[in-house]
Amino acid sequence: MLDQIADSIYFIESRSFDSNITYIKSGNHEILVDTGTGLYSSALDRDLQTQGSSLESITDVVLTHCHIDHIGGVVPLLEVGSPKLYLHKAEAESINSGDMSPTLSDTFGADLPLFKIDVILEEGSLIDFGDIRLKVFHTPGHSAGSIVMRVEGSGILFTGDTLFPGGSFGRVDFPTGDPLKLVESLRRISEMEFEIGLPGHMSAMKHDARRSALTSYQMAKNWFNVSG
Ligand SMILES: [Zn+2]
Ligand SMILES: [Zn+2]
Repeated sequence: MLDQIADSIYFIESRSFDSNITYIKSGNHEILVDTGTGLYSSALDRDLQTQGSSLESITDVVLTHCHIDHIGGVVPLLEVGSPKLYLHKAEAESINSGDMSPTLSDTFGADLPLFKIDVILEEGSLIDFGDIRLKVFHTPGHSAGSIVMRVEGSGILFTGDTLFPGGSFGRVDFPTGDPLKLVESLRRISEMEFEIGLPGHMSAMKHDARRSALTSYQMAKNWFNVSG
């Protein structure tokens, strides 16, 4: 089910183990932010068709990090089209060297073929899609290559698996997880200007998302016993 968040930005809440997925249409670009596991790609296709889109039409896929529940859906997209893939350097370099282990596909028994990341993101990267500009912030902690992205001028922040609603935050017990880095990343997010948060799991934070970020930061600081 698509939930329209802003003009041409639609949030799709996850099915089962999938991540949430966002569809953005801007100029000649049809973009997905995260793709789910890929197990539910025909349902995603039907959702996209309600907006005159489809799996084939997707031109760009921006990943908040490379875990299988976010990146797995790239596989069915590559079977029907050739979208450009975007991922932070800390994970893209492994994948581009043929090491898919950061995706955790083995851990979850998923069979992920090799593919390449086209655009390598870093702190401060700007991604321009027609009138939409995404600004990338590197926010490690849940994983080494986790990012959050602000839709410039819109008050919308994609928070990946770093920040969740209700004082929640991403787990740090997978390889490359790091509690101190997660707390620091949540602190940074709590100081950013944004109103709406679109997380990798759970519901959209539609109002006062920055306050939600502050709560998550304080909860994480206590949980991991970080002073300051
Ligand atoms: Zn996830
Ligand atoms: Zn994750």
